[in-house]
Amino acid sequence: MTIVDDYIRLHPASAKLYEESARVFPSGVTHDIRYVTPFPIFVERASGSRKWDADGNEIIDYVMGHGALFMGHAHPTITQAIVEQAPLGTHYGSNHRGEIEWGSLVKDLVPSAEEIRFTSSGTEATLMALRLARAYAGRDKVLKFDHHFHGWHDYVAGGRAPEAEGPTSPGVPAATTSNTVSVPQGDIQAVEERLEQGDVAAVILEPTGASWGKLPLPRQFLADLRVACTHNNTVLIFDEVVTGFRVSPGGTQARFGVIPDLTTLAKILAGGMPGGAVCGKKEVVSLIEFRDGDWNARNRIQHPGTFNANPVSAAAGSEMLRLVRSGEHHTYADGLNARLVKGMNRAIGDAGIPGAVYGLASYFHITLGKEVPQPTGGVEWPVSTPPPGMTAPVQAGLKRAMLNHGIDLMGGAGGFVSGVHTADDIDQTIAGLGSAIRAMQTDEVL
Ligand code: PMP
Repeated sequence: MTIVDDYIRLHPASAKLYEESARVFPSGVTHDIRYVTPFPIFVERASGSRKWDADGNEIIDYVMGHGALFMGHAHPTITQAIVEQAPLGTHYGSNHRGEIEWGSLVKDLVPSAEEIRFTSSGTEATLMALRLARAYAGRDKVLKFDHHFHGWHDYVAGGRAPEAEGPTSPGVPAATTSNTVSVPQGDIQAVEERLEQGDVAAVILEPTGASWGKLPLPRQFLADLRVACTHNNTVLIFDEVVTGFRVSPGGTQARFGVIPDLTTLAKILAGGMPGGAVCGKKEVVSLIEFRDGDWNARNRIQHPGTFNANPVSAAAGSEMLRLVRSGEHHTYADGLNARLVKGMNRAIGDAGIPGAVYGLASYFHITLGKEVPQPTGGVEWPVSTPPPGMTAPVQAGLKRAMLNHGIDLMGGAGGFVSGVHTADDIDQTIAGLGSAIRAMQTDEVL
């Protein structure tokens, strides 16, 4: 039995649903990362750290709502907040108390957040952050880093691979692409040289490194960027869509003590409902505000958005941020994550194959089939080393092999530990990785 044979045997109902799905959606999926061959699983319900698929398989989940579910699936008090709000109305088309509470919690937690504007997603948040920065600086160019992801709008689309000129994607006008410059992460000299040309409005980055720390960034780089941006009047944007409220209750900026001018947020922010935000220095965010004279017609940045700060997202998000605020769930989740990372490294060592797992706070990334050093302190990546990462066949093989053992990984390469995973989940996952590696060795994927 190969991994794929096993996968097909264990998931007949999902296979059937996929036939229907493929008639409705491109490649039968509604988000790129959910594309799995020969077919993805279909999930019917979820609770805590677990979800159950259409075939009744119980799965320990590390996708966790693409990182949104810091307190697991259907958390009782977050669910209660949603259930209590829904009958009171899901959209008032008016201001409401819930949004003040939600915004105030963001302001309390995120050091850079002097003023906030809610959006409906992380993509909308980075779109608005870049527009605010361009308007504030009076310059067109933005600088991003190779492999860093900021959503799918035109300013950043296609920006995952290294780009010589700028990110490219079919459908994005060349004029737009030409205003986005991408350089390798960690190279402060390249950044300084580019900023000194005086035409860069903003530097945007994932502050723990590309793909939520898959390519970890030397911490000093954040401090160096802060100095370079201030020196060149360039707006520094931390895209904390994934890391916000996760790397610490106040995100990466609170943990590492480097404060950006603007911050983008989503995922954990909205408690498992749709929602995002851009926040930061008042003098930048206030370009959205109404003023006297011809400011509104000439200088103001418009920001409508039907579902901005809708009452249900506000209710779920506020409850999530109240849970985040104490920090106790971080201590717990980070501890479990360290146990998971160390245990997975033991499993890889026992199997005698090249690879390593490393993490930060409550996320982890897996590299198999490639010589990489063991992480510092058993958990964190030793930064000045070759980049981690897996070949596409190894990653796809791992995703399927882990699902065969009742474990779902984000893209097959890592995941998120929540405040409701248990030590038992972690130990089952470590054993599952050992079994998955053996299956991959039998299949000669590894
Ligand atoms: N920025 C980062 C760092 C992200 O990881 C993501 C989504 N994974 C986004 C922006 C886009 O957020 P959304 O999917 O909510 O549009």
